[in-house]
Amino acid sequence: MIVMKFGGTSVGSAGSIRSVIDVIRQAANSGKNPFVVVSAVSGVTDMLLAAARSALSKGSSVNGLVGGIERRHADIILGLGIAPDILLEDLAELEKMLYGIWLVREITARTTDYVASFGERMSSRIVAAYAKKCGLNAKEFNAYDLGMITDSNFGNAEILPSTYEAIAAAVEKIPSGTIPIVTGFVGKTKEGEITTLGRGGSDYTASIFGAALGAEEIQIWTDADGVMTADPKLVPGASTVPVVSFEEASELAYFGAKILHPKTILPAMNKNIPVRVLNTFNPSGSGTVILKSGRITNERPITAIACKKNIYVINISSLRMLLAYGFLSRVFRIFEDFEVPVDIITTSEVNVSVTVEKKFDISKLVDKLKEFAAVTVLSDRASISVIGNGIRSTPGIVGRLFSTLGKSGINVEMTSQSYADVNESIVVREDR
Ligand code: ADP
Ligand code: ASP
Ligand code: MG
Repeated sequence: MIVMKFGGTSVGSAGSIRSVIDVIRQAANSGKNPFVVVSAVSGVTDMLLAAARSALSKGSSVNGLVGGIERRHADIILGLGIAPDILLEDLAELEKMLYGIWLVREITARTTDYVASFGERMSSRIVAAYAKKCGLNAKEFNAYDLGMITDSNFGNAEILPSTYEAIAAAVEKIPSGTIPIVTGFVGKTKEGEITTLGRGGSDYTASIFGAALGAEEIQIWTDADGVMTADPKLVPGASTVPVVSFEEASELAYFGAKILHPKTILPAMNKNIPVRVLNTFNPSGSGTVILKSGRITNERPITAIACKKNIYVINISSLRMLLAYGFLSRVFRIFEDFEVPVDIITTSEVNVSVTVEKKFDISKLVDKLKEFAAVTVLSDRASISVIGNGIRSTPGIVGRLFSTLGKSGINVEMTSQSYADVNESIVVREDR
């Protein structure tokens, strides 16, 4: 069995859904037993979140808020020639939900997830309907009806350990020969509340199902030719890297390469399942295969470069740090208490600097740090991460990185490379 995940652009138009069905059919015909995970139609998750916010601020009614979302899907449904009414119930439920937000003038993380879940619920219905029209034995499923159980951290939910078993048990009940078309991104708590796994989370859904079902391979079908040396939208000359290690792929994803959700690799790595990244719009391309490090044969010391915009640098200084112990644990306890993850860390004798994504509210955390240290916060910063298994063993890489930046007059404000790392990260001003 293989898990095949198709992203937003892959299901973003009637034409691309036709390509998706061709890819699924080919896998089915070659005996691969496809298990399909889909994202929402591209742009729809943003539209849903915007509709929820508008419902909150809308004056006299919520009329028309679902109009754009309905049209986005109707065009695709029309293009594919499938039953025009397949989304009626979803759209009516969505409208009711928005009406509820409008009535109570309140939106919680829980309601936001409920609203956001409609994207994948609708796209899975469309893809399954068209697959059936093309003669495939497909059936749509909500991931939460197939065992995807999460905690109640709405907006960024994590699966419960029991999820793996629950998925295996639920999928076993699906009649053999069926091609499941499953919602990415969404789950449910044990109490039955809908949750989401964080933006871009359908990749994570695919690897969770892959691990739970002992898949032979997890395929991420997207709009790029695999994992490339840099984001091709920023660096048009970027080229595809044929083989990447689990470690490198995790670092790339974590340090900003949008091609994979940061949590994607872990479930695959635990079960040693290869993850293949492929292009729906160029299905005969060989893409990238992500494997255990041992099997890597890259000649290049650097695999790829990622960047992350919208980060803060928090500088924490105190003379109390000098020749003392316990200071760092006090600092990081505060990050733990406020549940704010730290990306890059550097320390000197009297200073600790860390980077944090701007999506986290750090105001209270900074106040707490100020109780015992001098704190400055720099915004408008970006991190650039050079990633590759060869960095630690190749002399001169870091020197070339700094001299290249120096020649361009770009000031490096922070840098971090750990002893056994595959990642050299630097922080610069975002406008550079
Ligand atoms: P999907 O909707 O299929 O999940 P995403 O937009 O989330 O697609 O991710 C694919 C995009 O990731 C590509 O279009 C590309 O712009 C971006 N990207 C960033 N870094 C890389 C990289 N190193 N290699 C390939 N694509 C990358
Ligand atoms: N639809 C969700 C998002 O836009 C999840 C995904 O596409 O992976 O973030
Ligand atoms: Mg994505």
